[in-house]
Amino acid sequence: MIDLKNLTIEKAHQSFKKGEFTCKELAEAYLKIIAERNKEINAYLEVYNDALVQAEEAQKKFTDGTATTLTGIPFAIKDNILVKGHIVSAGSKILENYKAVYDATVIKDLKKAGAVFLGRTNMDEFAMGSSTQTSAFGVTHNPIDSSRVPGGSSGGSALAALGTETCGSVREPAAFCGLVGLKPTYGAVSRQGIIAMGNSLDQVSPFGKCVRDTEIIFNLLSKYDKEDSTSVPDELRKLKAKSNKLKATRIGVPWHLFKEGVDPEIQENFKQSIETLKKSGYEIVDIELPYSKYSLAAYYIIMPAEVSTNLSRFDGIRYGLSEPGDNLMEVYMRSRGKGFGKETRRRILLGTYVLSHGYYDAYYNKAIKVREKIREEIMHAFEKVDYILTPTAPILPFKIGEKLDNPVAMYLCDIFSAPANLAGVPSIALPSGFSSTGLPFSIQFMAPHFREDMLFNIGKKFEEIKEK
Ligand code: GLN
Repeated sequence: MIDLKNLTIEKAHQSFKKGEFTCKELAEAYLKIIAERNKEINAYLEVYNDALVQAEEAQKKFTDGTATTLTGIPFAIKDNILVKGHIVSAGSKILENYKAVYDATVIKDLKKAGAVFLGRTNMDEFAMGSSTQTSAFGVTHNPIDSSRVPGGSSGGSALAALGTETCGSVREPAAFCGLVGLKPTYGAVSRQGIIAMGNSLDQVSPFGKCVRDTEIIFNLLSKYDKEDSTSVPDELRKLKAKSNKLKATRIGVPWHLFKEGVDPEIQENFKQSIETLKKSGYEIVDIELPYSKYSLAAYYIIMPAEVSTNLSRFDGIRYGLSEPGDNLMEVYMRSRGKGFGKETRRRILLGTYVLSHGYYDAYYNKAIKVREKIREEIMHAFEKVDYILTPTAPILPFKIGEKLDNPVAMYLCDIFSAPANLAGVPSIALPSGFSSTGLPFSIQFMAPHFREDMLFNIGKKFEEIKEK
C-alpha cells in the first residue's frame, strides 16, 4: 500500500528511483480512489483512458536516465486548460463536446517532464465562482466534509494539480481543502492554451500538498513563452527579482481590511499564526492599504468586462454547441441562451453594460484607475515590508447550496484574493490549522512581482514552525 496521505512530489520521486513503487502503481492507486470517491465528490469530469499508458511511458524515463522530479507524478488538470485530443469544456454546456486541438504550453512542458495526466477536473462555468457550484456538470463536494463546497473555481485532486486564478480560484479551494495554492506573478506562467476568462488577471496556478510541491511545478512552468503576448521576457524577470531578499523578515498586516465580515474563528487562527511567526523572529508591522478595500468593486467591473468580450467568440458557429435557427441572429441567441449558465449570462450582461457607450467612463474607466491605485499602494507597501499577510478567505467552507441565490455574498469570498490579482503580484495560500469542527484554516502571503522565491522561503518556514 502506498502511503498517499503523506506523499509529496519529492517523496514519490525518491520511491520511483528506489523502485519502491512504479509510476503505473502510483497512477493506479489514485485511479482507485477516484473510482471510489468521485461519485460522491464529483471532482473529475473525466478520467483520461490513457492515464496508465502515460504512466508506463513515464517509467521508461527512469530506465533511460531522462527522468525529472515530475516524471510519473499524477496531475489533475482544470477543465479550462487544453490537453490535445481531450475534451475541454470550461465547465460549460457550450463546450460540452469540444476537443482541444493542441496542448497548452504548460501541458507541453509537463508532458516533456513526464508528468501523468489523470483527467480533467470540474470548475465553475468559465471559472466564474468561488464554490464550484456553477458548473454545467454538477456541484463538486469538499473531500473533507462532503456537505460543503470545495471552494472555486478550481475544485479537483491528485498528487498535484493545475488550476487557474483570476481572483482566488486556486488559493480559495486550497484554503477550503487544506492544500497549498500558489498564484504566480501575472505573466510568469504562459496563458497559451488556457480558455480565457479575464485576460489581464488570469494565471495558471499550481496546487500541492506542501510548499515544495508548488515550487517544483512553478519552477518548471515559469518561463517566457513567445506564443503568449502577456508573457514577461527573461530580462525583465531578472530585473525584478534582482535584490537579495531571502532573509526578509518584515511582514505587513493590513488589519483595517478585515475588521468586518471575517469569521471570528478565522480571525483567531490568523492572530495565532502571527504569534507563531513573531516567535520565530518575524517582525509584524501594521500597514494601511486604503484603496484595497475597493478591490472587489474594481474586480467585479474589470473581470465581467473582459469576460463579455472573451465569451463573444462562443457564437454557435465557431466552437462547441450550435442550435439551429432561421437566421444568423437566431443561431447566436439560441446557442448562447442554451449554452451559457445563469452566472455566466449575468457577467456577460454586467460586462457589456460597463463597456457600453454611456457607461464606459462611469464604470470601466473608473475601475481601471482604482486598479492602478491598488497596484501603486501595494508596490509602495513593499518599500516598507517584505511580505503582506492576510487570511486567505474570510469564511470557512460553506454548505453546498449556500450563497447560490446571493451573488454578492458569493463575491465577498474573494475579498482577500482580489488585491494580488489586480496588482499582478504573487501570493501563496498555506494551511494554518483546523477549526473546532475540523475544517481547514489558511493564511496567505503576498510578495513583490517575481519574488515567488520569497514566498517559498517563508512558506517552508511556516510549515516548519507550525509543526513544532
Ligand atoms: N471568485 C472569482 C470569480 O467568481 C474567481 C475567479 C477565478 O479566479 N477564476 O470571479
